[in-house]
Amino acid sequence: VKAELSPRELEVVNRSGESIPVEIRTRVISYRGTPTRVSALVDLRQRKKAEAQILHLAQHDPLTDLPNRAVFNAELNRAIEQFRKKGKTAALLLIDLDRFKDINDLHGHPTGDQVIRVTAQRLRDHSRSQDTIARLGGDEFALIQSDIQFANQAADMAHRLVQRLSEPIECGNGIRLRPSASIGVAMVGHSSDTTDTVVSNSDIALYNAKNMGRNTYCLFQEGMGDLVRQRRDLEEDLHSAIEEGQFELFYQPRLDLNSGSIDSYEALIRWNHPRKGLVSPADFIPAAEESGQIIPIGKWVIQTALATAADKLPSARLSVNVSPVQFRDNDFVEDVRRAIEASGIPASRLELEITENLLIEDDARALSILTSLKAVGVKIALDDFGVGYSSLGYLSRFPFDTIKIDRSFVSDAGQNSNSLAIIETVIRLGNALNMRIAAEGIEDLDTLKLLIKSGCNEIQGFLIGKPQPESALGAEIPTSVKAALKEKGPPAMLEDAL
Ligand code: C2E
Ligand code: MG
Ligand code: MG
Repeated sequence: VKAELSPRELEVVNRSGESIPVEIRTRVISYRGTPTRVSALVDLRQRKKAEAQILHLAQHDPLTDLPNRAVFNAELNRAIEQFRKKGKTAALLLIDLDRFKDINDLHGHPTGDQVIRVTAQRLRDHSRSQDTIARLGGDEFALIQSDIQFANQAADMAHRLVQRLSEPIECGNGIRLRPSASIGVAMVGHSSDTTDTVVSNSDIALYNAKNMGRNTYCLFQEGMGDLVRQRRDLEEDLHSAIEEGQFELFYQPRLDLNSGSIDSYEALIRWNHPRKGLVSPADFIPAAEESGQIIPIGKWVIQTALATAADKLPSARLSVNVSPVQFRDNDFVEDVRRAIEASGIPASRLELEITENLLIEDDARALSILTSLKAVGVKIALDDFGVGYSSLGYLSRFPFDTIKIDRSFVSDAGQNSNSLAIIETVIRLGNALNMRIAAEGIEDLDTLKLLIKSGCNEIQGFLIGKPQPESALGAEIPTSVKAALKEKGPPAMLEDAL
């Protein structure tokens, strides 16, 4: 007699038409000497529910309830299979919040968690049901856009996501954060694609998006990997650059149109690379920011500029560029204060140039740092005004001493009446707010005359002088410029001097 048959699962339908999963367990017993089959039905509803929950937990991230990395890997594999079998292309979007660590550090982990949850919801809202969204860990998400025809569909999705993810988040207690995200996009559509190559391609594109200044997306292209490698090499070389004394400051004069003299200089960093020669700051500052090395480099710039001012310049002011990464560093204000103290020159002779993207990222914090800097006594300039977001609102909200109008506007002013109108508006508003207006990138006399006429306070550009090594400090104002200053009908102070 076989005592037991293996249990089977089946569904029974009850009177109200509800189907119920059950297990049927059957035993054969001897009943009055006859082998008899006895079956019991076990209601499996509870167990099924518990199993589903366990499966869900194994596949989802508890914070956002999004699928986790395991599901992501399986889905990406499936997308690759779909391409091999049916030629259906897909895209992988890797999404990374910008400077998420700052949010955690500044506002605490509960706020960080909230940002992650809101981001997850925004991703859900913006994807189609056939797409897979997953949280890969930390502030990193992935979206597999399945069955699309063209790369520009993926680009379009990435573009919309970047916009959506940068909308402000109300975090309670009056905290309003403006997050942003960078996205790297790679297509699934080559016979040689594997999960590893597709992930690595999107990763390269993501790295590139971060280097493009974040809050943007980038579509992977062949050869992009080489660029990224070059960049990583540059980061390596940066490590030794300070110790080995490879940096140097150049100084570019700024002409005060009122006094007709050079009252200030901007310090501009140069890197004498042992193999590559002179590397432009535009090429290595982003890499230094990405790797955090901008912090020691920035300190070196401030100390060196102050030492030069103390040593070579009896009264002129010095302007130093400050990266947003450096500005947000917790020790920044104290470092500046100490550097000034060590140099022995008055704080008011140092001006820090910041850019507006620093204000957009966190208004309240930026304002508090600026206020502390003003308390130290340094001047603050808003650099590159006119590029990027350029809100006139910043001008009244932040305590700037100077507004530097970007070269792109200035060089355009002669031909483009729109640019000129904007320059004139900024000058009027700046003057009303007691800020000085400096125009950058003046290369010719016509532009100089235009700016004199529009009431600009200071100008900087190749026409007045190119950035030069320390040894060239104190160069003369070109005679053509002097003539233009006279010709315009001298301003009050110049008139006194004549
Ligand atoms: P910026 O602060 O807007 O500096 C002005 C840039 O325009 C300089 O380029 C300068 O050489 C160039 N320039 C000045 N006048 C003219 C002109 O008349 N015509 C043209 N075509 N260009 C002109 P540079 O020195 O290559 O610096 C580029 C940027 O790198 C700077 O832009 C600044 O944002 C950044 N940078 C430079 N030094 C430092 C530094 O020490 N720290 C940080 N964080 N950034 C720096
Ligand atoms: Mg500058
Ligand atoms: Mg500038």
